[in-house]
Amino acid sequence: MDSRTEPPHDCRFCPRLAKFRADNRKKFPDYFNDPVPTFGAHDARLLIVGLAPGLHGANKTGRPFTGDYAGVLLYKTLLKHGLAKGTYGERADDGLTLVDCAITNAVRCVPPENKPVPVEINTCRTFLSATIEAMPHLRAILSLGQIAHNSVCSALGVKKSAYKFGHGARHRTQEIALIASYHCSRYNTNTGVLTEKMFDDVVKQAKIAAMPAI
Ligand code: URA
Repeated sequence: MDSRTEPPHDCRFCPRLAKFRADNRKKFPDYFNDPVPTFGAHDARLLIVGLAPGLHGANKTGRPFTGDYAGVLLYKTLLKHGLAKGTYGERADDGLTLVDCAITNAVRCVPPENKPVPVEINTCRTFLSATIEAMPHLRAILSLGQIAHNSVCSALGVKKSAYKFGHGARHRTQEIALIASYHCSRYNTNTGVLTEKMFDDVVKQAKIAAMPAI
């Protein structure tokens, strides 16, 4: 990935997020506190798109979903399906590697209260679009949550009205299968909106769509 796909270390495109990052650098000097880059290789066939780094998770460790509650279920499921190798240790230097998949976020900087506003989602789409374009073998995108799904649709230039979000929803562009899932957040898993089985099934679907021969 390069300067088109990754925001600069001191990205100023979103003033509110830049200020929040600066405040967090003072408050949590040991944290990463930069835009969190995509994890995984650009020649992967599957791209997983989350919402945005969590303050004490990806924003701390510098790797998507790493240290976040949501990452426990995500990495456990990827390991189960052979989409990751190693051991998930909730830190960027745990040695875990992804197999034919990459993970990114619709918004690369941690937002206050975990809620990016529409202009930030739209602005950061520059990097999401560039990431998708930089993946020549991409066959499937698994979006975690409606915001990620809608941003992926906009990045691909397809109508959200025709590509409706729902857990397990599947759509196609000419080249890419789009699979949507409820976000694997603490809230969704604690309330039973998303069970481990539901998440397991959707990751399996995404793997089949990306790697039909396996
Ligand atoms: N951590 C991330 O990196 N992305 C999410 O969507 C949630 C937690």
